[in-house]
Amino acid sequence: MEKFQESMYKLIVETSTKLPKDVRRAIKAAKEQENAGTRSAMSLATITNNIKMADDNVSPICQDTGLPTFKIKVPVDANQLEMKKAIYEAIALATKDGKLRPNSVDSLTGENSGDNLGGGTPVIKFEQWEKDYIDARLILKGGGCENKNIQYSLPCELEGLGRAGRDLDGIRKCIMHSVYQAQGQGCSAGFIGVGIGGDRSSGYDLAKEQLFRSNDDVNPNEDLRKLEEYVMANANKLGIGTMGFGGETTLLGCKVGVMNRIPASFFVSVAYNCWAFRRLGVNVNPETGEIQDWFYQEGENVDFAEQEKKQAEVEIAASVEATGSSSNQEAITLTAPITEEQIRQLKVGDVVKITGRMYTGRDAIHKYLMDNDAPVDLNGQVIYHCGPVMLKDGEGNWHVKAAGPTTSIREEPYQGDIMKKFGIRAVIGKGGMGPKTLAALKDHGGVYLNAIGGAAQYYAECVKSVDGVDLMNFGIPEAMWHLQVEGFTAVVTMDSHGNSLHEDVEKSSLEKLAQFKEPVFK
Ligand code: SF4
Repeated sequence: MEKFQESMYKLIVETSTKLPKDVRRAIKAAKEQENAGTRSAMSLATITNNIKMADDNVSPICQDTGLPTFKIKVPVDANQLEMKKAIYEAIALATKDGKLRPNSVDSLTGENSGDNLGGGTPVIKFEQWEKDYIDARLILKGGGCENKNIQYSLPCELEGLGRAGRDLDGIRKCIMHSVYQAQGQGCSAGFIGVGIGGDRSSGYDLAKEQLFRSNDDVNPNEDLRKLEEYVMANANKLGIGTMGFGGETTLLGCKVGVMNRIPASFFVSVAYNCWAFRRLGVNVNPETGEIQDWFYQEGENVDFAEQEKKQAEVEIAASVEATGSSSNQEAITLTAPITEEQIRQLKVGDVVKITGRMYTGRDAIHKYLMDNDAPVDLNGQVIYHCGPVMLKDGEGNWHVKAAGPTTSIREEPYQGDIMKKFGIRAVIGKGGMGPKTLAALKDHGGVYLNAIGGAAQYYAECVKSVDGVDLMNFGIPEAMWHLQVEGFTAVVTMDSHGNSLHEDVEKSSLEKLAQFKEPVFK
């Protein structure tokens, strides 16, 4: 079992830090399609730079390492209880080594177990088979994209598409709608797994199961193959683009599976996965516990090269130029404390680079600040929606191992009030926020900055020092970290004049969705 534990540790580390070859190829193809000088091209350049950095640093591609989910097929005489124990040990060690973020929290108290172990975490699903080896697969699917999963019960009425009936066309409409409703919030460009049939829980299981298929495979079911091809050919016409910035690439993969259902129910379940599609698998010898082979690693590899970093900078500059940034074609530098006057000069589309102090804050901090004083003076300051991966060195100093943005919309009920209460001028996150925050930005003089979701290594490198931490009782991801940053790049997507890029893209993609209303499959 010692060797098996070691093999599981390798699987976890490799999955968290290196994207599989099929995913890399899909990202490369998307990058080649995107027009240079757009915000989407800039995002994709930052993403590929980030993939390269994660490769080099053997660090998490994204700070949200999700809910580790294992699917394991075992010969009939394999001891599943012992294997489970070995996986728990491997998970705890990978967390201690900063390869996984401590992500397991008590659902009632919010207490973080600190080692990714706890009731229901990790998920391990065993299945017996007649073969003589162990097939162990792992997916690390973060919360941002998990929250964009959706389930439809047919027949139903869909925004933009009308009636979706109990047939292939109804299913097609649900899938197109699922891409539209995700917008950029699941860190598009994404991959979807679709499950047709089953009940509410087995339908979602089937959808997630599809994410374990290779992105390059061809569906043996003729109807489903046509459906997959249709979605891939048309979803990108919605114009949502990378990070929801608008653009050519919204979807990188679509896999559909089917199972029987009972006559009264007809579910279509969609599992949405971000571009940071971390899933790998190994063939393990049941006698020795050693890895004999890796899955998803056949075909050409895309080794994002050294020039990615340079290209990301070029794309940032090109994007500034193309969008006519307020600062005459140069990214605008912001340093806290920021004045209201500075904020009022910013407009949607401006690219900013932050240098100086910022404070992290996500769900627990926002809830806390509603009813309590802040532990630091937040007047004119920048709040970063981020739950970083942190490691303490032997001298007790903290280091950031991964620090991309988290989904901001969760803070919608609090954000505007907190900005006004403490005088916060800028909020950084991903996916945008809603009308309440937009109104507060206008009223108070604030701005929302969209960072590139999943670019956890890129942003970790921008952090030059960790100057302190408050509210550690909320756990590492939820604490308020005081970060000193340099050249932290983000795009203004909601300004103090009532403009929201997110609102605009959602509106235009809804109009485009309507073109898919008419039946396609006879
Ligand atoms: S890339 Fe985005 S959606 Fe995916 S895990 Fe990271 S933060 Fe979550």
